Amino acid sequence: GLQVPDKKVESVCPYCGVGCQLTYNIKDNKILYVEGRDGPANHGRLCVKGRYGFDYASHPQRLTKPLIRKAGVPKVPGETIDPARVHEYFREASWEEALDLAGNSLKKIRDTHGPKALVGFGSAKGSNEEAYLFQKLVRTGFGSNNVDHCTRLCHASSVAALLEGIGSGAVSNPVMDVTQADVIIVIGANPTVNHPVAATWMKNAAKNGKKLIVMDPRKSDLSRLAWRFLQFKPDTDVAMLNAMMHVIVHEGLVNEDFIKSRTIGYDELKKNVEGYSPEAMAPICGIPAETLREVARTYATSKGSMILWGMGVSQHVHGTDNARCLIALALMTGQIGRPGTGLHPLRGQNNVQGASDAGLIPMMFPDYQKVIEPQVRAKFEQMWKLKPGTLDDKPGLTVVEVMHAAAEGKVKGLYIMGENPAMSDPDANHAREALAKLDHLVVQDIFLTETACLADVVLPASAFPEKTGTFTNTDRLVQLGRQALQPPGDAKQDLWIIQEMARRIGLDWNYEHVSEVFDEMRHTMPSIGGITWDRLERQHAVTYPCVKEGDPGTSVVFDHDFPREGGVARFVPADIIPAAERPDAEYPMVLITGRQLEHWHTGSMTRRAGVLDAIEPDPVALVHPLDLDALGVQPGGLLTIESRRGKITLYGRADDSSPRGAVFVPFCYYEAAINRVTNDKFDPVAKIPELKYCAVRVTAG
Ligand code: SF4
Repeated sequence: GLQVPDKKVESVCPYCGVGCQLTYNIKDNKILYVEGRDGPANHGRLCVKGRYGFDYASHPQRLTKPLIRKAGVPKVPGETIDPARVHEYFREASWEEALDLAGNSLKKIRDTHGPKALVGFGSAKGSNEEAYLFQKLVRTGFGSNNVDHCTRLCHASSVAALLEGIGSGAVSNPVMDVTQADVIIVIGANPTVNHPVAATWMKNAAKNGKKLIVMDPRKSDLSRLAWRFLQFKPDTDVAMLNAMMHVIVHEGLVNEDFIKSRTIGYDELKKNVEGYSPEAMAPICGIPAETLREVARTYATSKGSMILWGMGVSQHVHGTDNARCLIALALMTGQIGRPGTGLHPLRGQNNVQGASDAGLIPMMFPDYQKVIEPQVRAKFEQMWKLKPGTLDDKPGLTVVEVMHAAAEGKVKGLYIMGENPAMSDPDANHAREALAKLDHLVVQDIFLTETACLADVVLPASAFPEKTGTFTNTDRLVQLGRQALQPPGDAKQDLWIIQEMARRIGLDWNYEHVSEVFDEMRHTMPSIGGITWDRLERQHAVTYPCVKEGDPGTSVVFDHDFPREGGVARFVPADIIPAAERPDAEYPMVLITGRQLEHWHTGSMTRRAGVLDAIEPDPVALVHPLDLDALGVQPGGLLTIESRRGKITLYGRADDSSPRGAVFVPFCYYEAAINRVTNDKFDPVAKIPELKYCAVRVTAG
């Protein structure tokens, strides 16, 4: 019969960076259904993940007891443990025993091999408070800046370019500003799949006559609605964007006042784009010169033009250069600093913005305060009550570098909270070997992930609806997620686990409530200084920068100044750098990886969500129908995709959204983990790997 909820809890969606507000309807410690709430980003709307992807929390495979690897059981890279046979690999333990073993083992590594032999990976799925405490644990307990999370695989390059160019790594304008823009460029993003509710505002804008320009090597639902769709050749972003800038310079469409009063470095940029005429770039990027001219003119001359981008821009060895070009376009035309303009890197995870803000990155303390600056370290040493000179003055290792250091035996101990690098890291066979080689691996998660299969100690954590905390969406909106369920069995809240681990490695912490952590954060992070816990409880959401109490929060920034030296932005020119691995006779096709609407990242949650897994149950590769024909494979038939690093077998789906010669594979399927095939070469500035391009061979069967 119809079940009536006995409790309603107001929270936010655990999946993407759009940050939809929702209401959990609960009965007997189970979510019955989810409804959209009238939040600033979603106005009641939810996508299929937010609405139906909740029952993972009560899945029978949830970890409910701490686990310790059995003596003598080897770590086999690539092995996924059948949930029915967990007891052959691990034994259940008390919290006391598991925490003591984990803490003592890591401490011993630190004391024997030095702080740099330890690393912590936090998670963009956790709250701001979890991220903050986790980085504080690594910096003050492990004793180095070896802390990172999946922003490294996501928008690290966008953030690097934004910090360098305009002084802030976050968006300048919220997604909802598409309703006020006349021209909207969406480049290297597939928002109907990855930011579905945000995509609805973009679609409406297009239907209302705004000029939507989609630029992407792949077709998408959004490109069908576009005023112009530039299906450029994979890996040719810089050629295309420099050509647009060339047009803007040559046709006198630059905003001279803006350039003069608010920027530096224009002459260098102007000189650089000189060699990139649309006629010269057309054969490289595959877009006719006249289209490049038309789009450049339209962007430059509209009353308000906005650029939104995703991983198609960022996940390249030249990801930082790609973002530099987008920034330069906005600066040379003055299309920033007003509603309906600006730069918006669409953030992926629900809290990747907040986790980065909270300092879960190796080169910066909370609020992007640089670890290399002595006065910054002195300030944090004072706030964290440390002896002067305690904090490490060198940036730590990034995600991909950590795997290399572990393979070389330099990193020996790793504490992972909520991430799954065995699935998400490029060249995952190598990453799994590196994980297996560690002296001690502690994994804190809600399921026995592919990474946890290689752990020494597994700590059963809490799912999103089982805890309270703040989460920052792609619009810089700090929102409150509230606890709706009790964790199952002996599973504990992550904040408690971090604190217990901190105690074991010698830190004397005593935070009783999540709000105390938030309060400490706002005193160390000027941008959220004015946001109080009380206000969040009342208002549910506040946008930063919000510097003083009573400050309403600022959704559109840079109207007068840029937060850089002298208050001015900086142009940084970019030249063409090819992908690290190009197709050749042996590996003739291009592999592009990404996501699917129904599944989230490494699949640990959504593949255990009944409705979502029923819609997309099997690993698929999206291949152009003519390529599939040429391979002699029927739609739905088996394919093998192989690179110099690894191979997987999965089902081929005929799909003309990819151009011929390029195959698209989502990275969420453990049984066909595509990251075993991808390349781990990375952008030299941001250390983001090239997940959007490598050479593969595709064969039938
Ligand atoms: Fe959740 Fe994103 Fe879907 Fe909104 S758009 S319901 S935040 S997954």
